[in-house]
Amino acid sequence: MESYPFDDKTITINKKGASSFSKVSYPIRYGRFSEIKTKDYIYQFNLNGEIKFIQGKNQHWPDPNEWLKRTISNDWIYYSAGGYQGIYSFIGEYYLPYFKYPCNTIFRNNPFGNGRVESAIHSLDVLLSSLEHISVQKAPPAILEFAAMAAKNRLSTLDENSDTLHAIIGGSVTVLPPDTRHVDYEVIPVTIADGCMYNCGFCSVKQSKKFSRRSKNNILEQINRLKDFYKKDLSNYNSIFLGQHDALHAGIEFIEFAALQSYEILDIKNSNIKEPRLFLFGSVDSLIQTEESAFTALNKTPFYTYINIGLESADQKTLDRLKKPISIQKVQKAFFKMIDLNKKFENIEISANFILGQNLSDQHYDSILSLTRDSLDRFYSKGNIYLSPMNPETNKKEIQEKFTALKNQSRLPTHVYLIQRL
Ligand code: SF4
Repeated sequence: MESYPFDDKTITINKKGASSFSKVSYPIRYGRFSEIKTKDYIYQFNLNGEIKFIQGKNQHWPDPNEWLKRTISNDWIYYSAGGYQGIYSFIGEYYLPYFKYPCNTIFRNNPFGNGRVESAIHSLDVLLSSLEHISVQKAPPAILEFAAMAAKNRLSTLDENSDTLHAIIGGSVTVLPPDTRHVDYEVIPVTIADGCMYNCGFCSVKQSKKFSRRSKNNILEQINRLKDFYKKDLSNYNSIFLGQHDALHAGIEFIEFAALQSYEILDIKNSNIKEPRLFLFGSVDSLIQTEESAFTALNKTPFYTYINIGLESADQKTLDRLKKPISIQKVQKAFFKMIDLNKKFENIEISANFILGQNLSDQHYDSILSLTRDSLDRFYSKGNIYLSPMNPETNKKEIQEKFTALKNQSRLPTHVYLIQRL
């Protein structure tokens, strides 16, 4: 770590954050990063000199424990402490994310309407311009190198970088699995299959494409290009997301190939953050069809793997209304397979989603409880149930109450699924 004061700022490079993800009720940073402190803000940069966090320091900032984070796809997210009241119970995290883009949140008071938060983002270009003057001073070479690198990463450049990422993987990630919350959504995306089998009518995140698997050459090319894209900051990642909506249906040969190649080429073993994680989505049919030998193989990779399955409902009328072309018999079969696999494999955790919405029938909610409460003999700590709010704009309070009623009766950990993209 090296610090250098200039004008009214202090630059510190090579700061060391935590080396494993944890759930804490105070601002935490992971891996290695650099920082510039001014009287009004703390700016934190990744190892490529790209802005990652901005935290306000003066009395105009909404809360000293809250901050802005920029994702690699250049979305700004506001992390709200919300007084820590009830947030953990809802989402399993101590901080509530607010997005600039529309999302299925059931929480009010989005701070992006607040000019102070927008001002923090726009203050960045002013700061970066000031870094150009540092070169005439007698700063240490490593500080000058950081300043030169950071000065190039204006907001417009970061926008272009986001386009490059999407070009590499063949499109944006419209939704990340809810389990990626365990690594604060910090995943490197590798697309192994596009589209999905069902193209459900209700779904707002689908690619509207038929399912198709990528070739191994394509997967390999993506991984190599991602290595160049993430550059020095690669060492701050320990997690891979295998996209898109039903990677499980790509088959174990392709999943294992993508996971192991990513592990080697992206050097996950030497990451600044320990405990490698792999995330993917599966569908009811792909979970049912995948043989146990595939899970045995997955269990042996260097990753702890999370697979998220969209069940949506165990009530046939609701499934039909959602235009999800599956039967409740299959939903039940997938649910029990999830419970079984979670018991058998120590390095695999399967989670499931159900829909939450104010216009859904009592039968829908009863069907969720018949699985998550009545079918289980005890509480299980593994195998999260995510309740995904549908069209929550109209009555957020009512949806919150529905969620709480289901959570309190479920014998599996139960949280709200907030859609987050990349
Ligand atoms: S809910 Fe899942 S399976 Fe259905 S359309 Fe959306 S992504 Fe595809």
